[in-house]
Amino acid sequence: MTSRKLKNYIEGQGCKCYAHNSSECGCNVDWTPKEVYELREDLEFRRQLYKVQAAQLDKIRSERDEAQDAIAGWDNKWKCAVEMAARAENERDSLQVALEEKYVEYDQLFDEAEKIRIERDEARTELEMWHDGNIIHLFHRDELEKTERERDEARGALMKIEDLFVDGTDVYADREKMGMIARTALEGAK
Ligand SMILES: [Zn+2]
Repeated sequence: MTSRKLKNYIEGQGCKCYAHNSSECGCNVDWTPKEVYELREDLEFRRQLYKVQAAQLDKIRSERDEAQDAIAGWDNKWKCAVEMAARAENERDSLQVALEEKYVEYDQLFDEAEKIRIERDEARTELEMWHDGNIIHLFHRDELEKTERERDEARGALMKIEDLFVDGTDVYADREKMGMIARTALEGAK
């Protein structure tokens, strides 16, 4: 029954025997209460509404699932990123530790180098002092040699004078020679 027909429907419509209900009537007309038709129509409307809503619900459910999948995907990506960051942080920390160790080694090497440098300078100073001492020694040796030579020359002159004094025959000539020898020897000593 359409809505328009239901609107104009009256139970027992077309009864010619003036009955009050279907059990009194013999006209074979419709005595179904109007409320039953109204309830059936309402039920049909609700069924259709339910179908539409169920379809919408399915659509929304599948959209929700897609969104949840996407969220799970992003969540995984985020977790990966967090893991990578943590790994990078660990690597950085161990590199820093290694660097610290290198610094300590470097400091030790630096101290060692400084120690060696000081020792080298000391050795160099000692060598220079030794060189200087050696030069002074050579100078003294030259002086000594020169003095020895002069002594020998003086001795030679003295011997000649003594010879002339002992073996001389001409007093004046010998005296003059002795004087020359002595003068020469003294001049040579200058
Ligand atoms: Zn009737």
